[in-house]
This record gives sequence, C-alpha cells and structure tokens, in this order.
Amino acid sequence: MYEHDVIVVGAGGAGLRAAIAAHEHGADVALVTKLHPVRSHTGAAEGGINAALHPEDSWELHAYDTMKGSDYLGDAPAVDTFAKEAPNEVIQLEHWGMPFSREEDGKVSQRPFGGLSHPRTTYAGAETGHHLLHTMYEQVVKRGIEVYEEWFVTRVAVTDHDDPEGRECHGVVGYEIKTGEIDGFYARNGVILATGGLGQAFDHTTNAIANTGDGQAMAYRAGAPMEDMEFVQFHPTTLPSTGVLISEGVRGEGGILYNEAEERFMFEYGYANNEGELASRDVVSRAELTQVNEGRGIEDEYVHLDMRHLGEERILDRLENILHLAEDFEGVDGLEEPMPVKPGQHYQMGGIEVNEHGESCIDGLYAAGECACVSLHGANRLGGNALPELLVFGARAGRHAAGADMDDPLIPTGPDAESEPGDVELPVEPGIVADASDPVAADGGAVATPEAVLEDAIETERERVETLLERDGINHADVRAKVQETMTENVNVFRQEGNLKQALRDIRESRELYQDVAVSDPSRTYNTDLIHTIETRNVIDCAEAIALGALAREEFRGAHWRQQYQERRDDEWLKHTLLAWEDGTPRLYYKPVVLEGHEQTYEPKERSY
Ligand SMILES: Cc1cc2nc3c(=O)[nH]c(=O)nc-3n(C[C@H](O)[C@H](O)[C@H](O)COP(=O)(O)OP(=O)(O)OC[C@H]3O[C@@H](n4cnc5c(N)ncnc54)[C@H](O)[C@@H]3O)c2cc1C
Repeated sequence: MYEHDVIVVGAGGAGLRAAIAAHEHGADVALVTKLHPVRSHTGAAEGGINAALHPEDSWELHAYDTMKGSDYLGDAPAVDTFAKEAPNEVIQLEHWGMPFSREEDGKVSQRPFGGLSHPRTTYAGAETGHHLLHTMYEQVVKRGIEVYEEWFVTRVAVTDHDDPEGRECHGVVGYEIKTGEIDGFYARNGVILATGGLGQAFDHTTNAIANTGDGQAMAYRAGAPMEDMEFVQFHPTTLPSTGVLISEGVRGEGGILYNEAEERFMFEYGYANNEGELASRDVVSRAELTQVNEGRGIEDEYVHLDMRHLGEERILDRLENILHLAEDFEGVDGLEEPMPVKPGQHYQMGGIEVNEHGESCIDGLYAAGECACVSLHGANRLGGNALPELLVFGARAGRHAAGADMDDPLIPTGPDAESEPGDVELPVEPGIVADASDPVAADGGAVATPEAVLEDAIETERERVETLLERDGINHADVRAKVQETMTENVNVFRQEGNLKQALRDIRESRELYQDVAVSDPSRTYNTDLIHTIETRNVIDCAEAIALGALAREEFRGAHWRQQYQERRDDEWLKHTLLAWEDGTPRLYYKPVVLEGHEQTYEPKERSY
C-alpha cells in the first residue's frame, strides 16, 4: 500500500495543476495516472486559454460571456471565481516558461474565439495543450512530486453510510499496467479525481481512446452525484472520417464556413447575424446540421471550412498544425482547398458535482477538470474556457486538499441541496442488472469502517480482475460499440423523445451483455483488453446518465435541443439535473442554479450572437 497526504488521480492539465498547488501548500502529493502525464488528452488542445489580460478587457466581461454562453445554467460563484483567477493562472504559466505566441512588441497574443466579446484567447500556435502539459510537467518534476505512471485506478475507497454526505474517502485502488499488480493508495487528506472526459461514449468524437469517463463513473458509484450530464458539446469542426478536431482557432483567425452552394450560411440563413462563424459552438453545430438535413451539405454529410484567404504566411505562423491534421487524416491541403468538417462529440459540460473548492459531497473526495461540474459551463462551454477552468479549479482543489484556509463555498452539493425530486417516464429500468455478488458488473459496495475501507476495496478489485481473466464470455468491444452507436445516433445535437428512449433501451441491453463480458488475453502485463473491459463499465454508466438527463429535461437550453420543446423554459428548468447512484439505481433530482455571485447577480436574458 502506498500512502500520501493527497492522491491526485490523472495527470492531464487539471491533475498537474492540482498536484503543484497541493505541493506548494506543504502536502506530500502523488499523481496516479493510467497514461504518462504528457500523453494526457490535454495535449490535444489546439486553440487556446481564455483570460482577461488586456487593459480594455475585464474579468466581469469574461464572466458575462461565460454566463451567457452557459445559457444561464452556470453557477455565478464559479463563473466569477473563474474569470477573476484565470489571468493570474496564465501569467503563472508564462513565468513557468510556457512558450505563448506573441505580438511583435513581445506581448502574449490573444485571438478572438466563439462567444467572446473581446479577443482574449492566449495560445501557443495550434499546440496550446501540448505546451501546457510540458510546462506543468516540468514543474512537477522540479518539485519532486511522486508520479505513479501507467497505474489504472479502478475504484475510490469510500466508507459505507446511507447518506453520501456521511461518507469519507480514504484512497483509491489501482492496477499497475506494467506488472498487473493491484494495490491501494491511502490518502491522509484527500483524493482529487482529474480523469478528464468521456468522449468514448460516442463513436464520432474528438476525444482519445483513454477518455472513458472513469472518474465520473467511479465517483458516481461511490455516492457523489453526477450533475447536468445531458449537456454534451458537439464541436462544429471535426474531420468527418475520424472525428479529429479542426480548432476553433481557424475561425478565430477568419476561417469561413460554406455549404455545397458555396453560401456563407451562418449569415445567409440568419443563424448568427452578428458573430457568424464565431457564434457559440452549439449555435454553429446546429446550423451545420440544419444545412445538411435540408440538403445543402456536401455528400449529405458535411460542410466546408475555408482558410485559404488567410494566406500561407499567417496559416504557417498560427495554424500550421491544422495543415498537418487535414493532410494526414483527410488528405486535404488546407492551403489549396477547403477542409470538410462536421459536428462531433467534444466536451462534457456535466460531471461530478463539486463546489468552488472542488469538493464533492463525500468528505475527502474532490474533482477538477473535465470530469468535474462546478458548474462553470452550464449548458454550453465557450471555446478556450476549459483550459483556464482546469488551471483555476485544479489549483483550488489542490490548495483545499492540502489544508489551505479558504472562504466558505457558496455552491451547495449533495442530496441536502435537493430542491425537488425528478419525474421522468423511463422505457426501461436503469442501473445495475447484476446481483450484488457478481464481482464484474455489480457495485461491490464498501465497508463501514475507515480502517478497513481500502483493504476491502483492494480485495474487491482483485476479485473482479481474477474473474474477468478466468471466465469465458463476450468481448467488451461489442458492448462498447453498441453504446457508442446508439449515443451517436440518438443522443446527438438534435434530440427527440423516441430516440432518447431508444438509447436508454440500447444501454440497458449493453448492461445485460456486460454481465457476460470476459478478457481473452490472460497476460498480466500491458493487458489492454482487461483495461478496456473495465473502462467499458464506466462508459455505460456515463452514457446512461447522459441519456437519462436528456430525456428528463424538457426544454431547449445551450447544447441540449429537444424537438418537442424548442425554447428555453426558465420558469421550470432553470435548475441543475442531478443523478445520485443509490443501491445501484440512478435517482434523479434537481437543485437551483445559483445566479448570485460574490459581487454580481446575473439575470437570464435571451441569447443571440
Ligand atoms: C481535441 C481537443 C482540443 C481541445 N482544445 C481546447 C482548447 O484549445 N482550449 C480549451 O480551453 N479546451 C480545449 N479542449 C478541452 C480541454 O482540452 C479538455 O477539457 C482538458 O484538457 C481536459 O483536461 P483534464 O486534465 O481534465 O483531462 P485529461 O487531460 O484528459 O487528463 C486525464 C488524466 O486522467 C488520467 N486518467 C483517466 N482515467 C484514469 C484512471 N482510471 N486511472 C488513472 N488515471 C486516469 C489520464 O491518464 C490523464 O492523465 C479540447 C479538447 C479536445 C478533445
């Protein structure tokens, strides 16, 4: 068993930032990560990091844009804290040596991004995330923070108490990919989950194969609710054949979207008469798919993104990486021809419910980065706001877990925050299928005493792995593909009741299939079959939460469009969706949105660009 004050699970942007902050506040910190830190998906971020640095810009404007972008589902204390603290985080990165792109006078460049009222996106070419990871990993190495790399965490060890708010988290269980060893990481102060996104719940996604929603699902099963899971961002410019992202930076630099008739449809069809291509992502994705559905798409599938008019010099200076992506993955030369693009799953606005300090309702369990929902992005995230989020709230979670004195949080968490129970007619019973004794598909449970909780969790995981390796059964890939296909088909940009119900039925069938899953590769070293099998369980839990929340929310807000309810319904739906895992079944309830921040109160307005 390994022991540290703070265990950070995940070494992407959020995990690295949390670890550095906890270390600076005197904690003995360890990072436990299934990938080497610099292979984390943050490295794929292209476009940039928003922060109000310019004298003519202000944190209030950034906060306002973020709240408007969220379609008024952001919580004001999170939004204000974020906008105020983002500039210092960017300056800190610059001091740590991040190679930001600069203007001729040496100042850090800032470019326009969708939904921003001021050009405030700082960037490092079109490889911002890569440089961000390397800059922070250097700081981790410099500080001597212990990194357990290629350790796959499969469970958080939490005491068993009927009320999740009475539970305590004492560590995590990990599987060392190199050796097959299963062991525990005891956390004296707390565990911070920073495990990233869940794009693998869909089959057309910009996310890496490792983005399987592990943290969300593990925390959920331990009793921390998932918040606003129905809000999934579909990025408007992904390459059709692979889902590889073409950064919003292209449109930020002046790239133009055309339909088959070479009409600049964002203006021609009045989707965003002011901002055009730089409207918020949900708006642009719907516009593209409307063009395709109405017969104006190219090959009935995609539209064109053209950057040729920017000129070779500017493209090579600011967007060189995009040329390589278009050439390598689509065979298109972006200097000579327009690039084919269509919407693809990109980001999960919802996640583990936390407050401004990253605390979940379980004592000692924190979350930060894409796996968390604080809630900053509400119903729709603005491009360039995820990286500053993971810096600001990663650092705050790290500080708090290390014992730093911080103000009382204003955002409530846990079942006590419930304002009303949910009511939705489901086509199938959600939640676990297996009886509690099945070590593979069942919950596993937890023991009552803090002293034994980690040992118990380790035993449960050993039994799960042994069972998977020893028995015969079906391959996880069939189960995962079924989930991915139904999510892409039925829980996409345009959502209809019948499709959402179909998705829930398919997910139920996938759960039933998962009961018979087994691992054919018996190896104890680098057994990716085993890892993907365990991840698939997490994908199922996350997919179900998304589809269930989407069916329940009867309105159109941000990224969540419903055919029968094509308007935002603040009177009834200005509230967060919560799903709590109770005895293996999701329980739906709601809590109010917090529109009153530390210094300003937000009034929901009509959202147009
Ligand atoms: C292609 C792309 C481009 C983007 N561009 C931008 C951009 O320009 N600007 C912006 O603001 N946002 C952007 N985003 C969003 C943003 O990059 C992500 O939301 C953010 O980087 C996620 O960071 P993270 O630290 O939460 O997770 P990640 O960087 O994904 O890191 C997750 C970490 O958790 C570890 N992990 C996961 N599961 C386990 C487990 N079970 N056990 C142990 N370790 C585990 C992984 O090893 C990894 O280290 C982009 C997203 C994509 C997909």
